[in-house]
Amino acid sequence: MVFASEPAETLLSATDKINLMNLDQKALEAFVQVIGGKPFHGRNLLKWIHRLGVVDFDAMTDLSKSLRERLKQVAEIRVPEVVFDQPSRDGTHKWVMQLECGNRVETVFIPETGRGTLCVSSQVGCSLNCSFCSTAQQGFNRNLSVAEIIGQVWVAARRMQKPVTNVVLMGMGEPLANFDAVVSAMAIMQNDLAYMLSKYRVTISTSGIVPALKRLREVSDVTLAVSLHAPDNELRDQLVPINRKYPLELLLPACRDFIRGDKRRKITWEYVMLDGVNDSDRQAKQLIRLLEGTPSKVNLIPFNPFPGSSYRTSSPERILAFRDRLMRAGIRTMTRKTRGDDIDAACGQLVGRVQDRSRRELSVVSSLVRENRP
Ligand code: SAH
Repeated sequence: MVFASEPAETLLSATDKINLMNLDQKALEAFVQVIGGKPFHGRNLLKWIHRLGVVDFDAMTDLSKSLRERLKQVAEIRVPEVVFDQPSRDGTHKWVMQLECGNRVETVFIPETGRGTLCVSSQVGCSLNCSFCSTAQQGFNRNLSVAEIIGQVWVAARRMQKPVTNVVLMGMGEPLANFDAVVSAMAIMQNDLAYMLSKYRVTISTSGIVPALKRLREVSDVTLAVSLHAPDNELRDQLVPINRKYPLELLLPACRDFIRGDKRRKITWEYVMLDGVNDSDRQAKQLIRLLEGTPSKVNLIPFNPFPGSSYRTSSPERILAFRDRLMRAGIRTMTRKTRGDDIDAACGQLVGRVQDRSRRELSVVSSLVRENRP
């Protein structure tokens, strides 16, 4: 796998062609210089690939013929293959993309009035094991490359009539556990030659890997959503096990630090509504206390059930009562609409029915590899 952070010389020494989808602006500029071009050719490439959706070097008319020939020898533009393209009754759209090594990953487009939000995956599976999430059941498979993450945006931008105005890294996986690839992909999303999304329109959702959050603040400027789901450590330890390593007293200050200096910013706290687990009035009060002094929005997510889960979603009345308490305390609170549940595209359902097949395929591939090993 080739990553944008590798020096261009290393990229060139690889025997395979370089997939330019893996390269952000800096990496493309470095790469073209190695093959005899100028940095601006790198910027041209970025625009051709991402803004214009062109994957054929011959069509890139502002590059010299000799540079195009060289590019054809050493590089390619490989986008994820869509194997499944399913619209939902409510306009939500899900794609399953085939990756190398038999893996598959899911991407969801949610059209709303005046905006189109793309929910992007960052890993195949997830290692964090949150007890209410179906992706967790799949276990961790591997990180996605830059090409595979930005490729999801590339595909959606080409296939939908409505523009992608927002990207949320809320699909499969924990984005901060795939740090370098996610940072490069987000840089391409925000680049004016590519998808032109402002820092307020690219949202990373994390369960709270505190050291990575601190690093992210140094290298990237994006909007932050945090999967909170509980107002105290005892319950959060059970629901979001990474809390045992990075408890609330570390997480909260790191989040406040993340938005420091930008008065427009708030943290979005995601809070899945689990019947009888985290949805009482007492817990709403605890939550209000916890968030005091932190510019916050709360997103209540009705639990989306999946086979084998023992949780139930809170009743609409309970969700409303919980929300009212927060609102009365001055916290902007939204209830996330469940979208695309008829196609298994709702939060925590991404893994889908194809997952079994993809695991089967993966085990076939790994056994083939084992069998053919010298
Ligand atoms: N790893 C990232 C992205 C996860 S998915 C994170 O933890 O933030 C995006 C959101 O969906 C998270 O808040 C996650 O906790 C929530 N979620 C997961 N499973 C869910 C389910 N079954 N029902 C509702 N929300 C769920």
